[in-house]
Amino acid sequence: MTKLKRIGVLTSGGDAPGMNAAIRAVTRAAIYNGLEVYGIRHGYEGMINGWMKQLKSYSVSNIIQRGGTVLKTARSKEFRTPEGRKKAYNQLVKNNIDACVIIGGDGSFAGARIFSEEYDIPFVGIPGTIDNDLFGTDYTIGYDTAINTVVEAVDKIRDTASSHNRLFFVEVMGRNAGFLALRSGIACGAEAILIPEVETHYDKLSEFLESGFHRKKSSGIILVAEGKEAGGAFEIANRVKEEFKEYDVRVTILGHIQRGGSPSAFDRVTASKLGVAAIDALLDDQKSIMIGVANNEVVHVPFNKTIKNNKPINQSMLDIADILTI
Ligand code: ATP
Repeated sequence: MTKLKRIGVLTSGGDAPGMNAAIRAVTRAAIYNGLEVYGIRHGYEGMINGWMKQLKSYSVSNIIQRGGTVLKTARSKEFRTPEGRKKAYNQLVKNNIDACVIIGGDGSFAGARIFSEEYDIPFVGIPGTIDNDLFGTDYTIGYDTAINTVVEAVDKIRDTASSHNRLFFVEVMGRNAGFLALRSGIACGAEAILIPEVETHYDKLSEFLESGFHRKKSSGIILVAEGKEAGGAFEIANRVKEEFKEYDVRVTILGHIQRGGSPSAFDRVTASKLGVAAIDALLDDQKSIMIGVANNEVVHVPFNKTIKNNKPINQSMLDIADILTI
């Protein structure tokens, strides 16, 4: 039998729609299994400073449909230090917390992994980020909602693009990963998709523009993933303006609207599934794992694996994009 009596739950790193659904699922699944739950506010900052209080079933009522995170999130410099983690450990002991569920991205899991190596308090993770860049899981919570937000915005941009015969470069989030750009680009029928994983994309784009696209079609949408290597939408659009003066080029950076909004049904269901599975895993004495989803089944991925490996971009999605764009 498990010795667990009380667990903590927190959200960390960038916020993502569906985090609230995950908090709700973790809380209710824990209570269902006879555990007490403490909500830790402001991520690891709250763990260090003891900003935590008990969550009851009703505490998580009416949040499944809300974007953001009711527990707030933060990036904690102090948790990166052994002294910070020692303070966090002392707070967990003081509040009789036996295990924690961390909802966040790879940075949050890197912190959880180090902590679990130093102290004997099991941590499990739930992937929550719009970037979908975590190795070992097909989906992260927030990704589906962000895709829908991008598609809705691009549909609107397309109306004005076609009215003025303009070529729009639309930049979407994703840090160094092109998952969001690729999938939403396919969904909104972009003329081209530029992602950091494919170095030759700019060359293909210029070939396409050279081939006289403007004579066949009056407007276009080029989706660009933010990224350090090739530069963002502004850099690429400037290059195109220089090289192809016949195009009327505009840029839109979608920015933080991609992080907000009511989570999609898919994200809510995924969050619910992973939240319940996280409690099952803790009751089963598991630790240092991310609860993910692969081929529609819940999977356990060691933190080590998800942190160290880069998630490859799906080749079949790239092929689809290649066939259907331009
Ligand atoms: P997102 O993908 O949305 O940015 P994330 O979880 O990757 O989310 P980070 O800012 O990278 O976001 O990490 C969140 C927090 O995790 C950091 O602010 C820090 O407190 C902790 N953390 C990250 N890396 C480490 C590490 N190597 N050691 C200890 N703590 C870490």
